[in-house]
Amino acid sequence: MMRLPPFRYIAAATSQEAGRLLAQYGPEAMPVSGGTDLYPNMKRRQFEPKVLVGLRGLEGLKSIVGSPDAGIEIGALSTLAEIQGSELLKSVYPAVARAAGLVSSPPLRTMGTIGGNLCIDTRCNYYNQSYEWREAIHFCMKKDGGTCWVAPGSKRCWAVSSSDTAPVFIALGAEVSLSGPEGERRIPVRDLYRHDGIHFITKRSDEILTKIHLPPSDTVKATYLKLRRRGSIDFPILGVAAAIKTSSGGIVERADIVLTAVESAPVEAKDAAELLVGKRPTPGLIQEVAARAYRPAKPLDNTDLTHAYRKKMARTFVARALRELCSEPNGLQPVGPANGATI
Ligand SMILES: Cc1cc2nc3c(=O)[nH]c(=O)nc-3n(C[C@H](O)[C@H](O)[C@H](O)COP(=O)(O)OP(=O)(O)OC[C@H]3O[C@@H](n4cnc5c(N)ncnc54)[C@H](O)[C@@H]3O)c2cc1C
Ligand code: SF4
Repeated sequence: MMRLPPFRYIAAATSQEAGRLLAQYGPEAMPVSGGTDLYPNMKRRQFEPKVLVGLRGLEGLKSIVGSPDAGIEIGALSTLAEIQGSELLKSVYPAVARAAGLVSSPPLRTMGTIGGNLCIDTRCNYYNQSYEWREAIHFCMKKDGGTCWVAPGSKRCWAVSSSDTAPVFIALGAEVSLSGPEGERRIPVRDLYRHDGIHFITKRSDEILTKIHLPPSDTVKATYLKLRRRGSIDFPILGVAAAIKTSSGGIVERADIVLTAVESAPVEAKDAAELLVGKRPTPGLIQEVAARAYRPAKPLDNTDLTHAYRKKMARTFVARALRELCSEPNGLQPVGPANGATI
C-alpha cells in the first residue's frame, strides 16, 4: 500500500492568506482543494511538498451565479458534482456541466473541485507510477531523472494535459481570476497553459485560482466529447470541445475547436474552425473541417491506447461534435456511449 509522506497542513482562511503562506514557504508548499489529484501524486512521490495550504475553508468561492446575458461566475471551490448538477449551467452552458460530469467517478466528483481540475498535473505512462516503478527505469526528466522515455532526444517533457473541463472553458472564451501576494489578475483560460509537460501552467506558484468567468452566452452552442477505454474513472486520452454561434439564417458566425490529451496543453484548431465561419455547415464541410482539425493533434505513446489510434479518432470526434452542434436544437445530446466516452 502506498502511504502519504509526512507534511504540515495549514488551513487558509482567505485567498490573501493562502497567497501569503505559499509565498512564505516557497517551493516547499502547494495548495490543496479536494486533494483527488494531489494526494495520489504525493503517495507516488511525484510531488513532495512539506506544507500544504488548505483552500477548502475559503469564503465566497463555492457559488455558481449569473445569467445568460450577464455571463456566469463559478467559484473555484465548487465541486465537479455541483457543476454537473447546476441548473444554471445546464441551461446556459450545458457543455460545462457535461465535461464536469465526465470526470472520473461520482466519489471523485464529490471531492474534486473545478479550480483543482484546471490545475491538475500533466500525465504520462512513465510518470504516473509508484516510486519503485519509476526508480527501476532511473526516473525521467519530469521528476528525479534526466531522460524523456517517450522522446529520448527531446529537451522537453511531453506529459499530457488531462483536464476535461479546460478545453470547454477555452472554446467558450472563459477567463480565470488568480489571487496572489501581489494582488488579483484575470487571464483567459487559454493563457493558463503552456506546451511543456513540466512547466505546463503559467500561474505563479504563490497564486491560487479563485474564479472562472464565462462570458454572456450570446446563443453559442457547445459540446464536449471524451475518449477513454472505460465509461468511468479514466482520464481522457482524447477530448474535443467545440463551440459555434450561428445566425438566424444558419450561417456560422463564430467557431472554436479545442483538443485535449494530445499535447501538454489544450490545442486550439484555429485553422479548421475558421473554415466554418461565414458558411452554412454541410456534411461535406464538416468532414473538411474535421480533416484539418486533427492535424495539430500530436499525441505520443504515453497514455492508454496507441498514438495513431488517438490521432485518427481526433478526426472522428471533431466531426461527431460538429454534427451534434449542427443538428440538435440546443446543441447537446444526452451523454451516452456515442458522445460520453469509450471506444
Ligand atoms: C482515479 C482518478 C481518475 C481521475 N479522472 C479524471 C478525469 O477523467 N478527468 C479529469 O479532468 N480529472 C481526473 N482526475 C483528477 C482529479 O480528480 C480532478 O481533476 C479534480 O477535479 C481535481 O480537483 P481537486 O480539487 O481534487 O484538486 P487537488 O488534488 O486538490 O489539486 C490538484 C492540483 O491543483 C492545485 N490546486 C488545487 N486547487 C487550486 C486552486 N484553487 N488554485 C491553484 N491551484 C490549485 C494543487 O496544488 C494540485 O497541484 C482523476 C483522478 C483520479 C485519482
Ligand atoms: S513525457 Fe517524457 S519526461 Fe515527460 S513524464 Fe513522460 S517520460 Fe517523463
